[in-house]
Amino acid sequence: MNVARLAVRPSAVARTVEAAYSRAGLQPSDSSLPSVSSHVHRLPAHLSSRCSPFSTSAPAFCAKTDPSSPASANADQSNTPNSDRYSSALRQNKEWAAQTAREHPDLFPTLATGQQPQILWLGCSDSRCPETTLLGLKPGDVFVHRNIANIMHPGDLSSGAVIEYAVQHLRVNHVVVCGHTFCGGVAAAMGNKQLGILDPWLLPLRLVRERNLALLQSLSEEEAALKLVELNVREGLDVVKQKGAVLNAIQERGLQVHGLIYDVASGVLRELDTQDSEETIKSRLTAFAVRD
Ligand SMILES: [Zn+2]
Repeated sequence: MNVARLAVRPSAVARTVEAAYSRAGLQPSDSSLPSVSSHVHRLPAHLSSRCSPFSTSAPAFCAKTDPSSPASANADQSNTPNSDRYSSALRQNKEWAAQTAREHPDLFPTLATGQQPQILWLGCSDSRCPETTLLGLKPGDVFVHRNIANIMHPGDLSSGAVIEYAVQHLRVNHVVVCGHTFCGGVAAAMGNKQLGILDPWLLPLRLVRERNLALLQSLSEEEAALKLVELNVREGLDVVKQKGAVLNAIQERGLQVHGLIYDVASGVLRELDTQDSEETIKSRLTAFAVRD
């Protein structure tokens, strides 16, 4: 049993992200880039109120906007009376497909023969967190499961099937659990409103809140929401690493498991230190490792 192989290693995902930043002229290690927490506090007042992490009515768009930016122009265009986002998206798909085929002539023919993604992404369904886009990657690069608040229920058939297929059959090299700032699901779990079907879904998040109540109550509301995002990612990582297929892949071929937080207000990913102690690794293997 190679316990050392269970340790999280330097992240190739982070290197992929760094490459994307480099293409954009950014350096992720650059201290001038806004941190997650500093961005929360630097939001203008009118946006802070709309983007309160304690609002259960998740805002459609919480990033700062520059009226002169192309994105803003596009948003304005979509709101004209005769424009509909779905119809324009279908038109844009044809343009995108043609342009992508010109720039990468081998891409679609290759994808038609199968997929070999290196990354499994377990993230939130939030529209502001499109994993392939924010990683600067292309179709075929990322296998994905997303749900509300990126909650990894131990018995969830959907996420369990995705993880097993990705790890055992696609043989991905990296599994990522990614939370994000201004998460509506986390905000809901920090409140006490009755939410119907969302209540059982958010139960694991409320349990994390309960176990860490003293810590969360010692923080400001914004800091507490961000801390719960982080704790939820760590909880999700534990669930992922308790799966037999994942444990075997870590031992047998060095599968790496990572925790990230995406800052909606800056577009920047932050990697969490998720190094497990040897004692934790041994206990996990004793309790969860499976054999054929
Ligand atoms: Zn979310």
